[in-house]
Amino acid sequence: MTEPGARPTVCIMIPAYNEEESLPVLMPRLTALADSLTGYDFTFFFVDDGSSDNTLEEIARFAEHEPRAAYLSLSRNFGKEIAMAAGIDHVDADAMVIIDADLQDPPELIGQMLEAWHEGYDDVYARRAARRGETWFKKTTSRIFYRMLQRTTRVPIQRDTGDFRLLSRRALEALRRFRESERYTKGMFSLVGFRKKEILFDRDPRAAGTTKWRISNLVDLAIEGVTSFTTAPLRISTYVGMVVSLFAFIYLLIILVRTIFGISHLSGYPSLMAVILFLGGVQLLSLGVIGEYVGRTFLESKQRPLYFVSLFHASNDAVNLGVRNRPQERRQAR
Ligand code: UDP
Ligand code: MG
Repeated sequence: MTEPGARPTVCIMIPAYNEEESLPVLMPRLTALADSLTGYDFTFFFVDDGSSDNTLEEIARFAEHEPRAAYLSLSRNFGKEIAMAAGIDHVDADAMVIIDADLQDPPELIGQMLEAWHEGYDDVYARRAARRGETWFKKTTSRIFYRMLQRTTRVPIQRDTGDFRLLSRRALEALRRFRESERYTKGMFSLVGFRKKEILFDRDPRAAGTTKWRISNLVDLAIEGVTSFTTAPLRISTYVGMVVSLFAFIYLLIILVRTIFGISHLSGYPSLMAVILFLGGVQLLSLGVIGEYVGRTFLESKQRPLYFVSLFHASNDAVNLGVRNRPQERRQAR
């Protein structure tokens, strides 16, 4: 890890978007935790995702008298996936922990994560045993989503896990190399591989404020999850097309034979209509699916920068412990 004798550096990275109410609760818990785990050099790295409230002021005030704190502020709200990418880009520690600002992820679990890390695990993630304070709708949709995604891909996906996890240095470096702009970070953790271990916990309701997600965000994330991870929907439309055309062909033969032998009685306008409408629907759906992938190709082909940093602050201590201000890693040519 580091030079012999030196303590391992652990960076706790917190993406925060309009979390002025949660941060004052989170910060003392983080410092208390860091003080209690004496074998490590901790840093707290806040990524302000273009908040419109006093989140940045809160963080700056905390950093004034907390030398282990560092922060950066993105030029606008980019969404949690990109905020995490920004965090990952700027951290150069022996291990990094990603944790939500709203205390739905109990910081006290970090102790257990560090133990597993010492056993040699690279990706120690918290799995939700219970989800308190979340609606029935959110729980059910998320369960169905994980199931479906798992069925369509060969990469194992961890169900009921969030982004709350500890990553070893090599897992971190691997993640840094994913430069796509349409991100589904949970999928990337799986793609990276390495040794994984889960820790079960009860997910608490938010400490304060409300979730910044809307249903449309969740649907977007679900589509992102599927399209960035698997091409199964393309395959499915191929299969549907094949099955439907096979039946249509058999039916055509039957009609032909019946006409030749004069046992045909032409009627059936309603059934004709039904078939045409059904096929039209299937075609539109397949087009939509293809469009989804073409659209992603278009977005990725522009190779745009993922985010812009408007402010970076780190004390000398924090820099030495692994929070670095560095230009965004160049997007690799593919
Ligand atoms: N978050 C962010 N950018 C956003 C939305 C959310 O950085 O555009 C952060 C937020 O501050 C929190 C974490 O992502 O730390 C999880 O957000 P939230 O609690 O709203 O999501 P949920 O827990 O409902 O999935
Ligand atoms: Mg939350």
